Amino acid sequence: MCQGCFNRLFLRDELHSGGMAGLLGRAAGLPTRRAFVAYSVATASALTVGSASAFAADEGADLILRGGTIRPLAGSAVASALAVKGGKVLAVGDESALSALKTSSTRVVDLAGRTALPGLIDPHCHTLLASLIFELLDDVGYAKYPTRERLGAHLKQKAAETPKGQWIVGSNFDNLLQGGDFTLAELDAVSTDHPIFVWYTNGHDACVNSEALTIAGIPGDVGELPGGGHFGRGPDGKLDGMVYEESAMLKFAVHFLGKITPDVAAKAVADFTQHIASVGNTMLHEPGTIRSEWIEPFAKLSNTLACRTSASVMVDDVKGLAPYLGRGLGKGAPVGDSLFSLYGVKIVGDGSNQTETGAQTRPYLNSSAKGSPNFHPAEMKRMVAEVKALGLPVQIHCNGDYTIDIALDAIEAAYAGSTGHGVNRIEHSTMARPDQILRMKALGVQPSFLMNHVRLYGAAYRDQIFGTERAAFMDPAGACVKAGLPFTLHTDGPCSPPGPLALISTAVTRRCVIDNSVVGPDQAVSLDDAIRAVTIDAARQLGQGDRLGSLEKGKEADFTILETDPYKVSPDAIADIKVSETWVKGERKFAA
Ligand SMILES: [Zn+2]
Ligand SMILES: [Zn+2]
Repeated sequence: MCQGCFNRLFLRDELHSGGMAGLLGRAAGLPTRRAFVAYSVATASALTVGSASAFAADEGADLILRGGTIRPLAGSAVASALAVKGGKVLAVGDESALSALKTSSTRVVDLAGRTALPGLIDPHCHTLLASLIFELLDDVGYAKYPTRERLGAHLKQKAAETPKGQWIVGSNFDNLLQGGDFTLAELDAVSTDHPIFVWYTNGHDACVNSEALTIAGIPGDVGELPGGGHFGRGPDGKLDGMVYEESAMLKFAVHFLGKITPDVAAKAVADFTQHIASVGNTMLHEPGTIRSEWIEPFAKLSNTLACRTSASVMVDDVKGLAPYLGRGLGKGAPVGDSLFSLYGVKIVGDGSNQTETGAQTRPYLNSSAKGSPNFHPAEMKRMVAEVKALGLPVQIHCNGDYTIDIALDAIEAAYAGSTGHGVNRIEHSTMARPDQILRMKALGVQPSFLMNHVRLYGAAYRDQIFGTERAAFMDPAGACVKAGLPFTLHTDGPCSPPGPLALISTAVTRRCVIDNSVVGPDQAVSLDDAIRAVTIDAARQLGQGDRLGSLEKGKEADFTILETDPYKVSPDAIADIKVSETWVKGERKFAA
């Protein structure tokens, strides 16, 4: 749904012990440059000592993968063995040739016919927000409860299991896919003994029952709250259970969430990244919902997580990056000796097409509204120039084509002719026009597509939001291939379900699973192209193309092992391939 880019409910001070700045354990304020340099130097020297002794002890491989199919995305298309040493790829090739690297201490992993790919990367997932939702709320979304009947039965079951008076709280509810808004009467029929709060996956809306209104102390004549929060009313003028925007939802959240402590936040991220590993990802990039004061604590936390993490700060926090700049930080280099890196600066240019807040050059279907961008073109230019002045790339969220025009104008003005800053990205690029794909190619700008838009909302885009012709060019990956423009695929978690295989499958099939239709068949890409979009091209869009994204000598040994070779099933079945193992830096992080 793509509201994660600007969904801040969970980041409100009211929900955090010691305030939101302390989310990961720092009370407030920025780290001093001296403290950060001391941390980086201490961890880097520890790494050097450890590596040197490891190499002296043993000249062979630490680990050899054999007995299956390895698709390294470099050199030949298929290999039969992979050797790893010191967390890096030592060799890829024939099993017979690599057997010379086996010593008495080499660990051998038998693929037993399985397939290994380079570690799959999600280049746009709001890790912290998704972690808190994953940890603290019950997922009632479409992926788990595709029909209203199943969702209603689940809520009744929850009520039966939950002591009277305790909250029942659901998240990820999708009114577009799960039968429309809940009425107050419908939720009161689930229970009048429990307060119920169901949070929409669009991030902006929720629905509640009468008991929740009572506990939150919402009077029948409540008006608009400061910050724009408001409540829905039925034809009779009475509250209908709908709750709109953050300041209204916060009235309930303070009751059911309690205070989020740093320990709760750290456990949430650990549990979420374990789940992420189980769906095949070895790296997540968080665009913009991290704050600069969390960089150091997040780097420390990252070495305990089940996947690599990367992040960008939001443009309004760019001054907080100052202590970290230099030595490649902000352009993909790891923070100290951690599995955490920083890349670029995020700008949120408009809203969401599903809520018709993406800014377009033509009106939405059956409407005169075109949406409006979050910033005037001159303000966009000023912000992009500020990022360029730091030598960093931008990631600009643009769902509508008008916003893409503004973003590309600003990038052209600030970066024209310069190099060395990394890849400038247009996040989502959902409604990019053909001429904009060519302009991105000319400017060296790359798009990242939320391909679950096609998978889940393709029919809604076609029938309700844009019409057939424009929907056929949504998330136009095929046009990128024709133009020779690299692109990537992302989930925008928590706005769509985690998992790279559904993204790959949909990029190849363009299938909308809601009505089984194919949306924009001309924009389908090959399986090779789809896999590149979550491996090597994703690594390059995070400043890590020299370290990650393919399995070749000297690169980090990150890989994802699948039960079935995606080249040997129908493209629709790729989404259901079982993830068998994930490995990061030569260490197994997940095994089914
Ligand atoms: Zn976004
Ligand atoms: Zn986002």
